[in-house]
Amino acid sequence: MGKETSISDHTSAESFNIIAKVSRGGDLTKEEIIRLLKITDHDDLQKLFAAADAVRERFVGPEVFLRGIIEFSNFCERNCLYCGLRKGNKELKRYRIGEDEILAAAHRIKDAGIATIVLQSGEDPFYATDVLCLLIQRIKEETALIITLSIGERPYEDYAALKRAGADRYLLKHETVSRELYARLRPGCRYENRRQCLAWLKKLGYEVGTGCMVGLPGQDVASLAEDILFVKEIDADMLGIGPFIAHPLTPLALYPNGSLDMTLKMLAITRLLTKSTNIPATTALATIDPQAWTRAFNAGANVIMPDFTPFSYKRFYDIYPGRSSKALNIHDFLEVLERELAGNGRVIGAGSGYRNK
Ligand code: SF4
Repeated sequence: MGKETSISDHTSAESFNIIAKVSRGGDLTKEEIIRLLKITDHDDLQKLFAAADAVRERFVGPEVFLRGIIEFSNFCERNCLYCGLRKGNKELKRYRIGEDEILAAAHRIKDAGIATIVLQSGEDPFYATDVLCLLIQRIKEETALIITLSIGERPYEDYAALKRAGADRYLLKHETVSRELYARLRPGCRYENRRQCLAWLKKLGYEVGTGCMVGLPGQDVASLAEDILFVKEIDADMLGIGPFIAHPLTPLALYPNGSLDMTLKMLAITRLLTKSTNIPATTALATIDPQAWTRAFNAGANVIMPDFTPFSYKRFYDIYPGRSSKALNIHDFLEVLERELAGNGRVIGAGSGYRNK
């Protein structure tokens, strides 16, 4: 009689076959993604991360691209249950950064040798589209930076005007594909509208980023698998995947945070399936574990977004607790990053960091 096959042997073999299939360029079914999301065995996890890292090396290369982010307004009209910027959070001190200060931060990004600026805010109608267009034009004229916007849902005409003014990329996380969860966590928002916005942005020629949260109250692995399939379906150029982190001044204050391992599994599987998508090691990951960035870079990530929001505003962009509010010394940051990356055969990217389709 041959050696008896244990359940864990069977599980490892099954995971290994799925990883091998997707590494060879095959697609994954929802059930196969769920299988990978359920991996708990340490060796299997390492195989998954190593496979994602190999795909990253093959399709994206060793470069880690930097995007300098400015969070220019923490006003928001929405009331998302998970977010500290929600309108219902009356304890948050609100701010808006003026055009000249934003321009000064753009110059600091340029001077640091970073090619992309990310302009991020809550959904703040104060910044009308014509105001933003003038800002974009000024940034382009003075710095020639690549401009990414992350300012939420707007009408088609606004997206078109912002594109004409010079915006190049747009980040709009879908947050979750679960209609039920979306409706519950984002009161007054429609999932279909989010999808429509993403389709418009694609049509207008933006590089489009989306993404989701991991560990939302009520979220299950089937729903997470659908998030991955959604990202693949819309052929996202960029992807932000971060853990849910409970904010004490929101209705979800008492729920547990999303797990680091599950977030890394999501990141790795997405890398395996989408190949060339730009995937950041998010600030939210670093908030739950100081080692998380290194682990994310070893599981498929290839982007990092240093925060250039002026020091006096930084701590008020309080989406979730625990974000660093220290002043960023970009030169020290780059030195440390370069050293850490070099240890893993990686380098800081010098070019534009557009997705290499
Ligand atoms: S998640 Fe975005 S839209 Fe929702 S409250 Fe926060 S900043 Fe506003």
